[in-house]
Parts: sequence; C-alpha cells; structure tokens
Amino acid sequence: MTNTFEKEVIRIKKQESFVHNLMENYDERKNDTDGISGHRIASRLAKLAEIGLTEESGSQRIGFSKEERAAKELVKVWMHKAGLKVSEDGAGNVFGRLSAKDNSKPAILSGSHVDTVPNGGHFDGALGVVAALEVVEAWKENEYQPKKPFEVVIFSDEEGSRFNSGYIGSKGMCGKYQLDELIKLHDANGMSFEEVLASDGLTIPGFKEAKRNLNDIELFVEVHIEQGKILENENLPCGIVNGIAGPVWYELTFNGVAGHSGSTPMVGRSDALVAAGKFIHELSNLPNRVSDTAVATVGKMHIHPNGINVISGKVTLYVDIRDTDIKTRNNLITKVLRLLASIENEFSVKIDKKELINILPVKIESTIQDILSESLRGYGIRPIKLPSGAGHDAMILGEDIPVAMLFVRSENGISHSPLERSSLNDCVQTIHVLKRFIEEIMKNV
Ligand SMILES: [Zn+2]
Repeated sequence: MTNTFEKEVIRIKKQESFVHNLMENYDERKNDTDGISGHRIASRLAKLAEIGLTEESGSQRIGFSKEERAAKELVKVWMHKAGLKVSEDGAGNVFGRLSAKDNSKPAILSGSHVDTVPNGGHFDGALGVVAALEVVEAWKENEYQPKKPFEVVIFSDEEGSRFNSGYIGSKGMCGKYQLDELIKLHDANGMSFEEVLASDGLTIPGFKEAKRNLNDIELFVEVHIEQGKILENENLPCGIVNGIAGPVWYELTFNGVAGHSGSTPMVGRSDALVAAGKFIHELSNLPNRVSDTAVATVGKMHIHPNGINVISGKVTLYVDIRDTDIKTRNNLITKVLRLLASIENEFSVKIDKKELINILPVKIESTIQDILSESLRGYGIRPIKLPSGAGHDAMILGEDIPVAMLFVRSENGISHSPLERSSLNDCVQTIHVLKRFIEEIMKNV
C-alpha cells in the first residue's frame, strides 16, 4: 500500500516538474492569446510523457504496445471533452472530428503520432497531436465554427520500432501496403503482425478496412519538432517544411573469396570487406555532387565469416539514400550504381543489389508554402523554409493529397532521446501559426 502511495507521489512530482520546467521561461502574456493556453499544452505533454516513462526520464511507447494504447485513450478523453466525435479505424488510427458549417466538404486533418522509439523523447509526435487539439480548444473558446470539417488525428506506429518498418497507421489509411509483406513481419519477441494487432484489439480484416476515401480529405497539416539545428541557428521558433526526403534503402552484398589471412598473398585477393570499405568511403562524397539536401548513409553491416584471421568472403551492408527532389535523388542513385560497378571491377567482387524500400520524396505545394509564410508573418515570425530529412506521416499522405508541415525549433537539434526538448514559447507560437494557417485554408472554397 505504502509502495503504491510512494509511486503515486513520485509520479505526481515528476509530472509537476515537467510542467514547471516548461512553464519556467514561458511568456504567458505574449503567447496566451486567442484562446490558446500554454499551461494546457504543457500539462497535456506532461501527461503523455508519463505514459511509458523510462528510468532515464525518456518515453517508451512502441507501436501497438499497451503504452501507445494508453496514450491514444488519454487523447480520446480530451477529444471527447473538446466536443469532437471520436472514432478509430482498423489500423488503430484515432480521429476526433469537429462538426463544420458544411459537413459535406472534404475535411482538413491535423495531428501526428503518440508512439516513440525506445527511450525516446516527449515532443516527437506528441506535440503534433496536442497542437491540433489546442486549435480546437481555442476555437471552442472563441466560439468559432469552421466552414469545413476538421479532424485531429493520431496515426499508429509511425516510428516503426515494433517491426523495423514505420508509418503502419498512415499506410493503412492510405492503402499503401502489401498485405502479404505485412503478414510476414515479426517483432523482436517473435510476435507476428496479426498477433501484435490482436494484442491491441485489432484484426487483419479490420486493418484492410482502414483504407479511407482520400477524396474526403482536402489537406493534412502536421506540426513536428525539427530534429535538426537549422531553426536554432536562425534563432527562429518555427519554420516551413518545403519538402520531405523520401528514403530508398538498398541491401548490398559484396561477394569476394574467403581465405587465410596469413597464407593468401595480397596480390590477387578478392576481399569483400576492402571493397565494401572503399564503397562506404566514396559514397560519402556523392550526395553533395547532386544537391544540398541529398544524403547517403551506411549504418548497418554484416561481415562473413567475421574472423580475425580470415579474408572476408561476403559483406552485406545497407544504404539509406534520401533527397527532397525525385530528380536529384535519382541522379544520386545513378552515381551510386556507377560506383558499385567500378568497385566490382577494381576488387573482383560481385555485388548483389536488393531494393528494400522506395518512398517518393514529397514536395510541399508552393501555394501551401505561401499560405504558411503569410501565417508566420501574421504572427510576426520571419518565414524560412527547410527540408525534412526524416520521414513523417505527412510523407505517406503527401503522395496522394496536399500536405503541409511546420517544424518547431529543437534544443541542440536533439531527438529520439530523453534530452529532446522544445521550449513552450516555441511550441505555443507554432500552434498560433498552425491555427492561422488552418483558418486561412478554411476560407478557401
Ligand atoms: Zn515523429
């Protein structure tokens, strides 16, 4: 009994200190206007942070876990209180719909995700959901009824930590998946996709029904932390995302000839690791030859047979290639393939290539960027545009419908870590911009 009581006291203290830290330098007089409340935003972020709180004070709410579920249920309570009609689809995506003057019009959607990476931060995803809901709270206070329906949305399993994948919820809603591929997925504990869904009260037939008629959605707008340092360097609270880099992943297997490291002369070797080493080094020089935004990374590698005294016969590595523009990304891929061909020749290795994922980059329409610019200016913030190197649910939706994204300054550019932080001033100012932007979109018939 005492133990439970003590735990409860610690829980309340942690929550109070989270809110206190956020409120410490908060400029209430400047930012608590137009129905938006910094304290409500801080306490909601704190309540979400408490779900799946780790020893290191991070967040751990893996996709389809009981923690992600608890976070969704909590947001549903807030949605109900805000007067939204709450529903959930077969992929576990949650929608809170606000009735409009004309409910036959396509809806404006805004939100993000509440799952996290293991021991992640308290802002990635959660802020986008709290932001969209705060717009509804402000409208309620101002007795503003939008012309078109507005929906606050939570997408399931955005981070992909459950199955080493990602965007399961938004892909489910857009019908962008191969069911036979999904069914093959297993999590780290060996649970199949179907078993994981079942553990969250979901089913495969239900998942298939999550596909929504996208003609019913006019636009999706997502507020998200930047996860980089551009806004910090520019000393700006928020910025406009002008494109989302779509990733292409390749699995490359370098096939050489294994041999004894002592008895095989250097001349005539076919060393898979030396070839892979040259590839990794040369790869890092290619992106800046195609654009400022292109990137290419090798972050994972297996060496066979992986012995101290054995020449590597086989190396498998994974390349992640991204850019916000499809032309320059394709240009980079051509350069990478050329590099591989020259390495095959030089080192007498054979390289097998397998494309694992290929998600198209998303350009944000210039008319949408212009409305965002006006919304920032209207709130006295110099508009700057920046690309998103990381993927987001907006990237999945952006292949089919118009999307917009606002980035919030991240302290030291840190994310996916308990140290992830954005100031409450920055969060609230971005929500003001979000609100202005949505109101502007509502005006367009
Ligand atoms: Zn995120």
